[in-house]
Amino acid sequence: MTDFIDSFEDEDPFDSAGLRLTVDLTALTENWKDMARRSAKARAAAVVKADAYGTGIEDSGEALYMAGARDFFVATVDEGVTLRPYAPDARIFVLSGIWPGTERRLFENDLVPVISSEEQLAFWMAVLAEYGDYPCALNVDTGFNRLGLSMDEAIALADDVSRPASFAPVLVMSHLACSDDHSSEMNRQQLESFRQVSAAYEGIDSSLAASAGIFLGSDYHFDLTRPGIALYGGESVNDMVNPMRPVVSAEARIIQVRTVKEGESVGYGRATRLTRDSRLAIVSAGYADGYLRSQSSAGVPLRQTVPRGGQGFVAGRKVPVAGRISMDLTIFDVTDLPENAVRAGDYVELFGKNVLVDDVARSAGTIGYEILTSIGLRHERRYLHEED
Ligand SMILES: *Cc1c(COP(=O)(O)O)cnc(C)c1O
Repeated sequence: MTDFIDSFEDEDPFDSAGLRLTVDLTALTENWKDMARRSAKARAAAVVKADAYGTGIEDSGEALYMAGARDFFVATVDEGVTLRPYAPDARIFVLSGIWPGTERRLFENDLVPVISSEEQLAFWMAVLAEYGDYPCALNVDTGFNRLGLSMDEAIALADDVSRPASFAPVLVMSHLACSDDHSSEMNRQQLESFRQVSAAYEGIDSSLAASAGIFLGSDYHFDLTRPGIALYGGESVNDMVNPMRPVVSAEARIIQVRTVKEGESVGYGRATRLTRDSRLAIVSAGYADGYLRSQSSAGVPLRQTVPRGGQGFVAGRKVPVAGRISMDLTIFDVTDLPENAVRAGDYVELFGKNVLVDDVARSAGTIGYEILTSIGLRHERRYLHEED
């Protein structure tokens, strides 16, 4: 019996996974280098929040570090703690800042908090009084009205001669609201505002642009850029051909192929009625895996405004979702493929090189960011490197 079980040992779970993800680390690092080149005189950081946009913060963080990234942005202290061993001497900024009770983990892991409110600033000053010098970043709101000190607060702080000498910001930053729309007036307005802030903090690095802002040109680059989605191959700018390489592909295994007669219905709510004899491939991924239900071919409100539901790719062709996507399962209509072109055990690409993550997003009524960060936990993950 144990011999029998031992014989399973060299099975690679990737080969039999119901849902599997391939992360191309070479494409990731090429994308980072591309963004670094486009950032010209500015340094390019790497934004790796939300588990590096679903790709895995350890492997992706390490690959980006090896490619030369030395500034990283994470959302939470936990993410910073996870990243630290993979980016040993890099600067890691924590976008959510500091909160009472997180000081020790920040200091022990050499994380730099991004201070975004008067309350955080007051707490930070108290921390410095107790522990001494420690770097921080300041986030200034220039119109987004999300996080950030007001411009008046930030400029007053810069000019405040009574502020403690231990207060040592290493970065002043702001975030653009409309950089995905290059024709928006808001970009210029925020740029003008941020220039005032940057001037008040002369000698300290400034940062304004995320992925889409980098494409706005050198006025927006300042000293440090903060690309996120572009590194992972996603679109950041509307109505522009996306020059980034796809990084992530998701594939789900076909559990069953069934033949169904004309006139029958498919799935929950009988949302789709078949108008011809059909072959359906049932795959093991659903909305619990981030394959959003709003991509269903029918039976969801979005189909009234965005006519086309999701598509997969198998045997060299795109195939449409049939009916409603359920929690763990999705049905694809493979009738247009030659008979026997697909069978149980084959994999359907949910997104990747053939079905772009942003096309999935469009048919789900969202953006590529949400697709990537919704992938969930049930997949097997494999990383590709150049050497492989
Ligand atoms: C998420 C985030 C980024 C990265 O944005 P992308 O659009 O993914 O490039 C940069 N800066 C801040 C403050 C962010 O929250």
